[in-house]
Amino acid sequence: MLGEEAAIYEPPVLTSRAMNPPDTEWLALEAGLKPGLRQTLGAQHLPGLERRVARAGFAMVMAARPVQFPGREPEEVAYVARTRAHAELLRDAEARVFPSPDPIPLTDAHLAAHAELGAALGFPRCCVDAFLTRLRRGVTTRARGGDAPEVFVAVEDALAATQAKPLGRLNHLLFERRVRFLSHYPCRYDCAESATYAGALFEETRRRVPADADAMRAMLCAPLALTLEGRVSDAANAPPGALVLDFSEF
Ligand SMILES: [Zn+2]
Repeated sequence: MLGEEAAIYEPPVLTSRAMNPPDTEWLALEAGLKPGLRQTLGAQHLPGLERRVARAGFAMVMAARPVQFPGREPEEVAYVARTRAHAELLRDAEARVFPSPDPIPLTDAHLAAHAELGAALGFPRCCVDAFLTRLRRGVTTRARGGDAPEVFVAVEDALAATQAKPLGRLNHLLFERRVRFLSHYPCRYDCAESATYAGALFEETRRRVPADADAMRAMLCAPLALTLEGRVSDAANAPPGALVLDFSEF
């Protein structure tokens, strides 16, 4: 069964149109590093996004209905791409697995839709495949058994698959602060395809806003811990059971 928030992406929390730090997902689209993006946002932010899309010459289509998670306001789901056809492809792929309060029975068709959505968002095939493995197992079911938040399970699997040092540019865990060069769960913290993408996006960010890019790099390269509750915490005082990610190399 799919959890209600089962997704390979971690949507940024869009609280303001002001971009500080820069919106790297948008920058990746502008630079042609990714073919499309998905954005959830409060209805009051829609006119601003529409203007931004128009200025950039991109296309945008909306999901048929808003999405709502417990304790949160309903959010609109927008699909933005360089062409209308690609925006529609994103919308139509996700329509088949749209987040729902009721668990969706997992079928081959759902897995295929998730794979199509991941590819259309530009995520590496290896990372999409790792996500599909977690979907089949249950996104909140740990490989060793027992339950944990989706993010914890994804990070635990990626750490277990990592063979070299975890790369700070693949640190996706500061997304609530919008400090990231990766918007998907990597299959491992030395995933070559993700590292190439995140490195290119860092360079692009650095060309435009060098000071911001360097500050983001420094933040991403600090070790951190992820608690069993799915919260990011200080690596030096990690509670029992937490995963420690030794991000020190970029
Ligand atoms: Zn990968």
